[in-house]
Amino acid sequence: LNAPKLFDLSGNVALVTGAGSGIGQRIAIGLAQCGADVALLDRRSDDGLATTARHIKAAGRRSIEIAADVTQAAALDEAVARTEAELGKLTLAVNSAGIANANPAEEMEESQFQTMMDINLKGVFLSCQAEARAMLRNGGGSIVNIASMSGVIVNRGLNQCHYNASKAGVIHMTKSMAMEWVGRGIRVNTISPGYTATPMNTRPEMVHQTRLFEEQTPMQRMANVDEMVGPAVFLLSDAASFVTGVDLLVDGGFCCW
Ligand code: NAD
Repeated sequence: LNAPKLFDLSGNVALVTGAGSGIGQRIAIGLAQCGADVALLDRRSDDGLATTARHIKAAGRRSIEIAADVTQAAALDEAVARTEAELGKLTLAVNSAGIANANPAEEMEESQFQTMMDINLKGVFLSCQAEARAMLRNGGGSIVNIASMSGVIVNRGLNQCHYNASKAGVIHMTKSMAMEWVGRGIRVNTISPGYTATPMNTRPEMVHQTRLFEEQTPMQRMANVDEMVGPAVFLLSDAASFVTGVDLLVDGGFCCW
């Protein structure tokens, strides 16, 4: 066994959703730094994807940019087809696209609840479905879904029952898919980040909240996006060859308290 080689992703092709910002962007770059070529998917029309692509080029790997919405099955099928046509057979995927917002449960419109479920839960389902169809054809692969510690605990003071439910759904759906595909070479796991410094949490109106988040976290700070790379590379790589259906909390100890 060549231990350092376990984390080498050379020869792999990955698809990352939500690759234009935050956790998805940093993980996409990290996969390239470990040797993978990466298809970058996001619905953003600003320069997020171009920034990710620039970093990947600097790492000496190839990438393609795909503007698509994870709530659209046909767009995801097309994204996988383009990935395989331009980069090669898909073997790795990270599904990070997601949204967050808040509203008291008794005031929440049905449409706000529905949009959350469509993007955060159905979007992950459709992404996994499109990715796994290719991986099943290709003889295997590894998928990481970005859930949240909010799928495990209820964030004190945040009225986001729809978000929390969507993330609990991602964790259990991932375990279910892991068991459906366990005999066919595909591993599926979740990473559940704690509070992480990304545009999702660092908006000006969140400044007061961010201080609270830091105080409530046992490590007394938010995660940096860099700290999501190691866990993702681990779960995707041969280092985790006996790991499937797991939810890896990366939360600075939050869920211990
Ligand atoms: P972010 O807003 O920086 O990035 C999310 C990306 O997803 C954006 O680029 C956005 O355009 C994209 N996206 C949203 N809806 C989409 C859709 N329908 N189709 C395609 N792309 C879409 O946020 P982030 O903090 O990097 O969040 C990434 C994931 O991590 C999310 O699933 C989020 O719930 C989860 N998460 C974040 C935190 C945190 O504290 N930041 C904590 C736990 C979990």
